[in-house]
Amino acid sequence: MANDASTVFDLVILGGGSGGYAAALRAAQLGLDVALIEKDKLGGTCLHRGCIPTKALLHAGEIADQTREGAQFGVKATFEGIDIAGVHKYKDEVISGLYKGLQGLVSSRKVTYVTGEGRLSSPTTVDVNGQRYTGRHVLLATGSVPKSLPGLTIDGDRVISSDHALVLDRVPKSAVVLGGGVIGVEFASAWKSFGTDVTIVEALPHLVPVEDENSSKLLERAFRKRGINFSLGSRFSGVEYTADGVKVSLENGKTFEAELLLVAVGRGPVSQGLGYEEAGVATDRGYVLVDEYLQTNVPTISAVGDLIPTLQLAHVGFAEGILVAERLAGLKVVPIDYDGVPRVTYCHPEVASVGISEAKAKELYGADKVVTLKYNLAGNGKSRILKTAGEIKLVQVRDGAVVGVHLVGDRMGEQVGEAQLIYNWEALPAEVAQLIHAHPTQNEALGEAHLALAGKPLHSHD
Ligand SMILES: Cc1cc2nc3c(=O)[nH]c(=O)nc-3n(C[C@H](O)[C@H](O)[C@H](O)COP(=O)(O)OP(=O)(O)OC[C@H]3O[C@@H](n4cnc5c(N)ncnc54)[C@H](O)[C@@H]3O)c2cc1C
Repeated sequence: MANDASTVFDLVILGGGSGGYAAALRAAQLGLDVALIEKDKLGGTCLHRGCIPTKALLHAGEIADQTREGAQFGVKATFEGIDIAGVHKYKDEVISGLYKGLQGLVSSRKVTYVTGEGRLSSPTTVDVNGQRYTGRHVLLATGSVPKSLPGLTIDGDRVISSDHALVLDRVPKSAVVLGGGVIGVEFASAWKSFGTDVTIVEALPHLVPVEDENSSKLLERAFRKRGINFSLGSRFSGVEYTADGVKVSLENGKTFEAELLLVAVGRGPVSQGLGYEEAGVATDRGYVLVDEYLQTNVPTISAVGDLIPTLQLAHVGFAEGILVAERLAGLKVVPIDYDGVPRVTYCHPEVASVGISEAKAKELYGADKVVTLKYNLAGNGKSRILKTAGEIKLVQVRDGAVVGVHLVGDRMGEQVGEAQLIYNWEALPAEVAQLIHAHPTQNEALGEAHLALAGKPLHSHD
């Protein structure tokens, strides 16, 4: 095995997705000599098969809905249908613009970019294309891929994953979505907007089950209104092919027929066969285990992103990559408070949150120490203008800080920025109530909710 250019890099990174490229950019910025190894496309899942393409589909869906609903705003418009090739063209243009920008960034920061499939060959080396890349430190950032259930084969035709759904050359007439988590409800929402008859199957009692129960219930109400069907609390038991689609069975005996089944039951880490275990890296169910500074049990190896058992979000990958780069450059770093990470599900209506749920707050602080407040968007001028319904729910420790902000409503994902400052700066309701929010914005609803929690509601009842 040849040693690449006889260089010992400060950092060799395996995987150029959100976690890996963020680490590369920050490490290079801090003067470290970095090699970044990627077998497919720089940008990884988020840019090519995740965040960006799904949000483009959802935006196209929003335009379809608004065209159909133009009359209620006094706008004459006729919805003729979806030109799926046109939707893909728009989506792909967004991706390629960002992809070009990212490639430019990586080369301008003088990162050594290597295309090829890498394998960890020792605690300080990665082999790729017959070359050995040696680093003082190695960062594992190989991400995740769609999972399935035992006995359920994803054939890419009638039983598909999100990867296939993003390049589907037609709008399906009907679809069953297996899994009511973020990815499942986002596809259900976009497809419904495109005209698909959708049914979501979720084994747990609620859609978006990791959210505060109030948000789940509001989303379920909104989906019911939109005609998105869902079955909660019963597990999938099997799928068979029919003449023109699939028949999905649940353990409770219910069956659903559709043109296709989208399997959205989560994503599993990419760690098999990459030399991790041979190098002594501790794993659990394929996830690489790390300490709060994202270092594995092997001192020269760190890991970030979907490969480790933290929140599978692009901005978590960015933050983890930056933390590792700064630690290796000798800067003082602070462990990530994962409760303080904003989470957004971009369906129609959106669901967003930061901090903890009411149930978790009660577990942590005791039921009598937790105060909650709900502010209905019906009292918010901008939400009325947009004709969106929803709520803001605040969770506060009695006489203390706001520890949870839960938002439901179209465009409410954009409000999670202020919500995260409130949570992460441990703001008291009275402090937020003092801040003036612009009228008429949806942001104002966040201000109003805190005015109410501080005991001085304006546009809501005492
Ligand atoms: C449908 C969908 C929608 C999503 N929407 C959002 C969203 O709206 N917001 C959000 O925050 N997150 C979203 N996510 C999650 C987000 O995409 C991931 O959390 C993020 O991409 C994880 O980054 P990562 O760097 O850990 O892994 P990845 O992005 O998966 O990158 C890993 C990279 O490693 C490369 N690789 C793997 N093995 C090797 C090897 N042996 N050699 C070389 N290279 C290798 C892969 O090719 C890949 O490019 C979504 C995900 C999906 C699937």
